Amino acid sequence: MEVLYHSTRSKSEPVTASQAILKGLSDDGGLFVPDHIPSLDKSLKELSGMTYQEVAYEVMKLFLTDFTAQELKDCIDRAYDGKFDAEEIVPLVEAEGAFYLELFHGATIAFKDMALSILPHLMITSAKKNKIKNEIVILTATSGDTGKAALAGFAGVEGTKIIVFYPKNGVSPIQERQMVTQKGDNTLVVGIHGNFDDAQTGVKKIFSDKELAREMDEKGFQFSSANSINIGRLVPQICYYVYAYAKLLQEGKIAEGESINVVVPTGNFGNILAAFYAKNMGLPVGRLICASNDNKVLYDFFSTGTYDRNREFVLTSSPSMDILISSNLERLIYRIADNDADKNKELMEALASQGKYIITAEMREKLLDFYGNYATEAEAAEIIRKIYGDCGYVIDTHTAVAAAVYEKYKAQTGDMTKTVIASTASPFKFTRSVMNAIDGKYDSMSDFELVDELSGLANVKVPMAIEEIRTAPVLHDKQCDVDKMQAVVREFLNI
Ligand SMILES: *Cc1c(COP(=O)(O)O)cnc(C)c1O
Repeated sequence: MEVLYHSTRSKSEPVTASQAILKGLSDDGGLFVPDHIPSLDKSLKELSGMTYQEVAYEVMKLFLTDFTAQELKDCIDRAYDGKFDAEEIVPLVEAEGAFYLELFHGATIAFKDMALSILPHLMITSAKKNKIKNEIVILTATSGDTGKAALAGFAGVEGTKIIVFYPKNGVSPIQERQMVTQKGDNTLVVGIHGNFDDAQTGVKKIFSDKELAREMDEKGFQFSSANSINIGRLVPQICYYVYAYAKLLQEGKIAEGESINVVVPTGNFGNILAAFYAKNMGLPVGRLICASNDNKVLYDFFSTGTYDRNREFVLTSSPSMDILISSNLERLIYRIADNDADKNKELMEALASQGKYIITAEMREKLLDFYGNYATEAEAAEIIRKIYGDCGYVIDTHTAVAAAVYEKYKAQTGDMTKTVIASTASPFKFTRSVMNAIDGKYDSMSDFELVDELSGLANVKVPMAIEEIRTAPVLHDKQCDVDKMQAVVREFLNI
């Protein structure tokens, strides 16, 4: 059955999957949602005999119904290949009474690779299907992780260019090195003299400049977006939950049909929403455990029904979760409002104008699948040390938030259902925080000394993504003032 996509904010005409991927965001500012969640059409038993790529196909074909089987398989094969340093793409590791689903074996060692490895291929296929001749120009503002994952995904992909703006003094040294050493003639990385908000505002301004869009079209270019509200990023994330279940079944860790819980370290609410969609496809998932760091807007939301971003923004050692507006939550709000676009729009407008909204009692009743909690900096560090001490397994700071929340969940509910914890980054990406959590004595070492130390301690080879940047030449040294961003884009595109 065909799945069409429509906006969470109006009853506008639905679009096909490929059109939704090309557009990214609906014209009315809403997010695209599927008109229904399709059910898995293979049994769990059948899925348990499949490779990651095969499972990905079985899941994605149900959502991206205007793609042919060949188109989709080509996209999957190009995405999930030797760029991943694990044959099974997402290994499951049993440690400390849970199953860690390692989503960080891609090119930039964070889970963003799971979606950004395939998005470029979905996008150029979508462009072809919709007879778009223009080259697609991806514009991204990044606070660190997304920029590199998008660069790695789009580098060298024919028919695309990618421009990344980052705050020159606002990212970690490792993150900056990862970006400025990016290869590929179709890539451009620019440090701006301003903060992340300046970069984001500048990019939005370029996006909405009609005169520029007209000139671009004349010269054969059009903009698109790779940020996490694109449905082309959400759908690929559903696959690994289905794969994890299938793998547990295959290994005899669970019985067919047995429920599992899922814990997700959450920021923009994309990853956990994908788990929710997997559950709604018929995957036997019990509770969806939403883990936050000190920026605990979501914990407060699940416990009170009020979403309130009016609070201090806290910088933590899990920076990819330092978020006060979880964009993808809008898709859940729309759903628990019984797909009422007007109601959702009213709440989102309240969020924009007052920074908060309150959901109704009926809506709250539909959130029982979810459990929210949070972990402080000290609790996250403690669990890294404990799990390393107990089993020699080293987790990163984001995954640690999930692990700490899982401990609280068990203590509070006594629920001992088998549980998958989404492990969203390699500890090598946040080496200093991880090593400091294990032992204060590491504080005086340099970043790369710590990398080698971690490798020995965890008995894990240093990932390619880190090895590469030790010696890779700097290929991007462009900087600009905020008001020169458009000029930089024009220069790169030669218009
Ligand atoms: C982006 C990110 C998250 C948050 O994921 P969301 O889908 O935004 O909730 C968690 N951990 C890491 C390492 C990330 O990069």
